[in-house]
Amino acid sequence: MATKQFQAESKRLLEMMINSIYSQKEIFLRELISNASDAIDKMYYKALTDDSITFNQEDYYIKVHADKDDRTLTIEDTGIGMTEEELENNLGVIAKSGSLAFKNENEIKDGHDIIGQFGVGFYSAFMVADIVTVYTKSADSTQAYKWQSNGADGYTIEPAEKAAAGTEVIIKLRENTEDENYDEFLEEHRLKSIVKKYSDYIRYPIKMDVTVQ
Ligand code: ADP
Ligand code: MG
Repeated sequence: MATKQFQAESKRLLEMMINSIYSQKEIFLRELISNASDAIDKMYYKALTDDSITFNQEDYYIKVHADKDDRTLTIEDTGIGMTEEELENNLGVIAKSGSLAFKNENEIKDGHDIIGQFGVGFYSAFMVADIVTVYTKSADSTQAYKWQSNGADGYTIEPAEKAAAGTEVIIKLRENTEDENYDEFLEEHRLKSIVKKYSDYIRYPIKMDVTVQ
């Protein structure tokens, strides 16, 4: 399977994320939950105009699952999902909204809480992840796909199995170092408080579970 390279601009943002010494690393969760919520919004609107989709309020939710043994954190949604082409266009290329604001403001207000103020998007996952794996199935497709990257060496996309439409973002947390401890993102209390802090505008239920051995 061929490894594809990120667009140059995306690469720079990725490098910033990978080398981030930003103390509020927790905002990656805000970004992934907001993406999940956006994806459910899209599904919701699709259901309104497409009679073949039956909309049940309880079908639309976001789930945060921590696995302490694997040291993974999964953010799952029942949203619109992505086709292979969308995966390529959305996760291989820098997102316009968040990143541009990030860049411009970074130049103007260096030293302030830049990352905290702006949506830096999907790539913020690389502040805490060694590997990010995305399983996704578009509501318009019968085929699911797996996207995977360690940030530095590009990404791969391959066909995968996934029953329902939606997306699962699996974060393999970095190993702890002397200075940084990533285990906090596996702790139920900590996760709950982060989710609470950033879910004011999220209109869908956020379910949570933590697996320990
Ligand atoms: P933004 O949300 O500002 O567009 P992101 O970097 O957060 O930027 O996300 C880039 C794009 O990737 C999104 O616009 C969306 O098209 C796609 N995407 C990310 N996460 C999901 C998801 N959970 N479900 C569907 N599409 C997603
Ligand atoms: Mg986003």
